[in-house]
Amino acid sequence: MSVTDVGKKATVACPFCATLNRVDLGRLADRPRCGECQRPILLDRPIAVGDATFERVIADTEVPVVVDCYADWCGPCKVVAPILDDFAHDRAGEVLVTKLDTDRNPATAHRFDIRAIPTVLVFWKGRPAGRQTGVLSRAQLDALVDAAVRS
Ligand SMILES: [Zn+2]
Repeated sequence: MSVTDVGKKATVACPFCATLNRVDLGRLADRPRCGECQRPILLDRPIAVGDATFERVIADTEVPVVVDCYADWCGPCKVVAPILDDFAHDRAGEVLVTKLDTDRNPATAHRFDIRAIPTVLVFWKGRPAGRQTGVLSRAQLDALVDAAVRS
């Protein structure tokens, strides 16, 4: 076990059955599967979080967590979505990228005072460490996450 394998565990909800799973982001090549339904958990793309799972995902993930707060009717959110997709793909194993439907998860949206979308939140070591509202570029997203990790 090398140093780079330490501290890369994440907790995510299975996209199919919503069961919370503990996954090792240092071993994505092993293609993690849900312990409940056995379907693959793909972590090179944003994975949904909601009111029921948010707390656990943030508290039990050892890498920075990006939360894309969006709604289906939001045009600018559709501009940001592919940037998040690319980011999740490029930084898989290093950053956990999640998405929060603010219409379906009002408690979490209220808790973090999401007044406009898209808003990107960054959590590091279980705490809020960065946020930006409005359309952001890939470079801005990388900078936001990198600044959060240094904070
Ligand atoms: Zn499952």
